[in-house]
Amino acid sequence: MPAPIPFDNSYARLPARFHARLAPTPVAGPRLIKLNRALAEELRLDSAWLGSPAGLAMLAGNAVAEGSEPLAAAYAGHQFGNFVPQLGDGRAMLLGEVIDVHGRRRDIQLKGSGPTPFSRMGDGRAALGPVLREYLVSEAMAALGIPTTRALAAVATGEPVIRETVLPGAIVTRVAASHIRVGTFQYFATRGDTEAVRALADHVIARHDPELEGREDRYRALIAAVSARQAELVARWLLVGFVHGVMNTDNMSVAGETIDYGPCAFLDAYDARTTFSSIDRHGRYAYGQQPRIALWNLTRFAETLLPLLSEDEDAGVKEAEAALATFGPRFDAAYRGGLARKLGLAELREGDAELAGDLLRVMAENQADHTLTFRRLCAAAETSDVDGLVRDGFVDPTAYDAWSVRWRSRLAEDPRDPAERASAMRAVNPAFIPRNHRIEEMIEAAMERDDFAPFETLLAVLSRPYEDQPEHARYAEAPEGGGVGYRTFCGT
Ligand code: AMP
Ligand code: MG
Ligand code: MG
Repeated sequence: MPAPIPFDNSYARLPARFHARLAPTPVAGPRLIKLNRALAEELRLDSAWLGSPAGLAMLAGNAVAEGSEPLAAAYAGHQFGNFVPQLGDGRAMLLGEVIDVHGRRRDIQLKGSGPTPFSRMGDGRAALGPVLREYLVSEAMAALGIPTTRALAAVATGEPVIRETVLPGAIVTRVAASHIRVGTFQYFATRGDTEAVRALADHVIARHDPELEGREDRYRALIAAVSARQAELVARWLLVGFVHGVMNTDNMSVAGETIDYGPCAFLDAYDARTTFSSIDRHGRYAYGQQPRIALWNLTRFAETLLPLLSEDEDAGVKEAEAALATFGPRFDAAYRGGLARKLGLAELREGDAELAGDLLRVMAENQADHTLTFRRLCAAAETSDVDGLVRDGFVDPTAYDAWSVRWRSRLAEDPRDPAERASAMRAVNPAFIPRNHRIEEMIEAAMERDDFAPFETLLAVLSRPYEDQPEHARYAEAPEGGGVGYRTFCGT
């Protein structure tokens, strides 16, 4: 019988100092909460096997599947600006890699699978609430079309985890283009291990940027490629109101996927200063700071590659700076272009960025909901009869009126007919995002009543975020008071 999963583990083949080889720690009472059959199919995995006792044993960490070579990866990272030379997978384990239906290599990783040599003081486990949150929000991001790690499965462990209170334990199976982070490069760079940095860079190039292979300037080009992915990614975050919450360098993927759904959350009322994370006291990772922080992290990435650039040190620094300088224009183009599309403009013209910026400013001054405002603009673009819906979302509706006069005169110069424009707008302005109050409600039902129906419903609604689903209107609604004061926690 062929192995149920055709693992091919390129990361395990890297030198021993890249990882610690160990098996997950078995759990007492594994129970499958959710299996992502569509993703399993994309990965060419057999859903029936994954859902069988043998599959569940792998997803719970109770058995090592044939061909799997479990490992905890070493990495370092800047946490809130402070460098920590050793972090690593403290509660995650890479099971191995598979090649998906598109020919892309994907990591399959357990998160919450027990202690590793990188656990420090932690227990290596995850609680049910954060596992459901990661499953739901990462799948919602994928449905929004934003690069992200995915969730293949969620499993209850039948064991308690001890946090501030005793909570049910769970494991999420995470799928990623790779789990290589800026912090992975930092781990070797800080040890002066240039050979490892080179091996890692070559591995990343082979995996994520194969068109650079063999090029003399490939390491400089890698900085530009990773920067471009991050510029696009962060622009996409801003356009849907996503706040990552913990943009430490160990949580920035060189593959350009959103990774680590700890304290993330979406804006309700628009305010660029919004931060949800309980530990982000100074707003380092606030919504509006994200582009700046991404560039700061990329600069740390570029530093690790300096020994691979020009032998002349000054020339090497100049090369790195030139590569990093591509971030700004790339981000601006993605963000401004995205805002123009959100406003229903087929092309970006002079003055459009200002028009969009003024709307955001008025929204912030009037506690207007980010998602609802843009979604309602779609209808308003078709007929001004429904302007009332948009303006009612502003504390002072006349602030919207003043702005909308300018918007309508700009729309008049746009070539498309109103119905076509409205449908293009609906394809970029989601009706549904993972609202914080709905996530909390879903977690409460699961934890307190063992009721996973709200999880299933929310997941289904969020799988079609750009479609109006009138029967699910409650999931589109903003929370009372614009969600001000909502707090998230990481590491739980
Ligand atoms: P994060 O804040 O999720 O990016 O995690 C930062 C570091 O803490 C990583 O090295 C994690 O592996 C580690 N970590 C977080 N939670 C735990 C835990 N419960 N047990 C062991 N290590 C953990
Ligand atoms: Mg992390
Ligand atoms: Mg985390």
